[in-house]
Amino acid sequence: MDRRELLHWLRCDDALELSELWQRADRTREEWVGDAVHLRGLVEISNHCARSCHYCGLRAANRTVRRYRLTEEDIYRCALQAVQMGYGTLVLQSGEDYGVEGHWLAGLIRRIKAATPLALTLSLGERTENELAAWREAGADRYLLRFETSDRALYQVIHPDHGGTVSDRIAILRRLRALGYETGGGVMVGIPGQSYESLADDILLFRDLDLDMIGIGPFIAHPETPLWRARSPLPTDNQVPPTVEMTCKVVALARILRPDAHIPATTAVAVMHAGLGRELALRRGANVIMPNLTPPQYREMYAIYPGKADRIEVAEACDRQIRSQIASLGRFVGSGQGGRRRRPAAPSREHPATLKIAVCMGSSCYSRGNNGPAIETMRQCVEAAGLIPDISGHLCENQCTRGPHVTIGTTLYSNVQASCFDELLRHHLAVLREEPHG
Ligand code: SAM
Ligand code: SF4
Repeated sequence: MDRRELLHWLRCDDALELSELWQRADRTREEWVGDAVHLRGLVEISNHCARSCHYCGLRAANRTVRRYRLTEEDIYRCALQAVQMGYGTLVLQSGEDYGVEGHWLAGLIRRIKAATPLALTLSLGERTENELAAWREAGADRYLLRFETSDRALYQVIHPDHGGTVSDRIAILRRLRALGYETGGGVMVGIPGQSYESLADDILLFRDLDLDMIGIGPFIAHPETPLWRARSPLPTDNQVPPTVEMTCKVVALARILRPDAHIPATTAVAVMHAGLGRELALRRGANVIMPNLTPPQYREMYAIYPGKADRIEVAEACDRQIRSQIASLGRFVGSGQGGRRRRPAAPSREHPATLKIAVCMGSSCYSRGNNGPAIETMRQCVEAAGLIPDISGHLCENQCTRGPHVTIGTTLYSNVQASCFDELLRHHLAVLREEPHG
C-alpha cells in the first residue's frame, strides 16, 4: 500500500467501501497475530512531568494537578496483582519524571523480573541513553514512546524541546531498538494542525521503523492545555478530525502495513466512544488491551485528557468486563508474555540465498547518495554477509524528502547512507532471523 492509497482510505467516507478496509484489516490481524487479545497491566507510576506538551493535562505548567509518585512497594504489589490476574506483561508509565531515578528503577525492574514471569514495558518519556541502557540491562523488555506526529514543524509546536536538548523521538526509537528493546511508537489522531498527508506519512513511518507495538488514539482536548479549543491553521477539509472512525482507519492501515505488530485498542478510543470504541478497534485490527492496575486513589490524578479517570476503578470488575467483551467477539485472552512473533523468513549464512535490494533512483534519492559507488558498497556488504545480491534500480517512492530510499526484501528504509549500510543490513537480517518468543 503506497501513500496515495493511504490517503484514499483516510479521506474515504463511503461506509460500504470502508467495510472493505475493516475486513482486510481484520483478516490480516487473524492471519498474522491470530484471535488472541493480549492483556497488559498498566501502572501509572507517577504524574510528575518536566515537559509541557501542548496536548497533555500532565504538563508541568498545569498547576491544577495534584502530583503523586508511587513507592517501590506500591508498584511491586501491582506487579503481583498482574500475575494473579493472569497478565503476561506489566507496563510502567509516567510523565517525564526525573524523580523516577535511573538506579532506583533498575533495582525495581530486577526485583520484578526475579519474582515474576512478567514481561516489562516502560513508557517514561525521553530519558537518557544511560538510563535506557541500564533499564534494558536490568531486564526491561519493551519501551513505548509515541512519536505523536511525523510532521516535524507540527511536532515542534506541540512538543516543545526541554532542558536545552532538541526532542527527536524518532531517533530515540531507533536507539531503543539498537539497545535490544521491543519498541512501540504511535500517534494521536486529530491534533489541531494534523493534515491527511502527515497522517499518511505517520503510517508509513510505522513500517519504516519496523515497530513492534503501535499505539493509536484520538486526540482529546484538555481544558488546562494550549490546545483546548485551538483553531487549526489548516483549511477545514485538510484537518484530520479526532474521531473514533478516523482512529479506526489508522489502526486498520497500521495493521495492513505492519501485520505482525501488537496494536492496542487504546483507552482514549474507549473514552471517546464509551462501550463501543474498544470493540470497534478490536474488530478493525487491534489485538491488545491495557487494563489499568494503578491503585484507584491515584487514577483521577493521571488525567492526561478529560474523562479518562471516570472508568471502572476496581481492577477485578474491569478485568471481568474486558474478558466478556473479548469472548463476545469470538476471541480469547492471550497467554504468556505476548511478545512480537516474527515470520521466519530468513536468508542467512547457513542458508545462502538471494537478497533483493531495490534502490530508488529518483532524481532526489540519486542526488542524496543513491549513486553508483553507493550501489557498489551495498553489493559488497551483501556478499560479505554470505548472500547473493540482486540489486535493481527503480522509480520512485514518492517520499522524496525522506530519501535516499532503499528497499531490502520487502522493507522500505528511508535516509539510507552507504556508509551505514553495513549496520542497516545487519539489523535487517537480525530481524528476519529472530526466533518467535512469548
Ligand atoms: N510521558 C510519557 C510520554 O510522553 O511518552 C508517557 C505518558 S504520556 C501521557 C502517553 C501518551 O498519552 C502520549 O504519548 C500521548 O500520545 C498521549 N496523550 C497525551 N495527551 C493526550 C490527549 N490530550 N489526548 C490523547 N492522547 C494524549
Ligand atoms: Fe509529560 Fe508525556 Fe504528558 Fe508530554 S505527554 S506532558 S511528556 S506526560
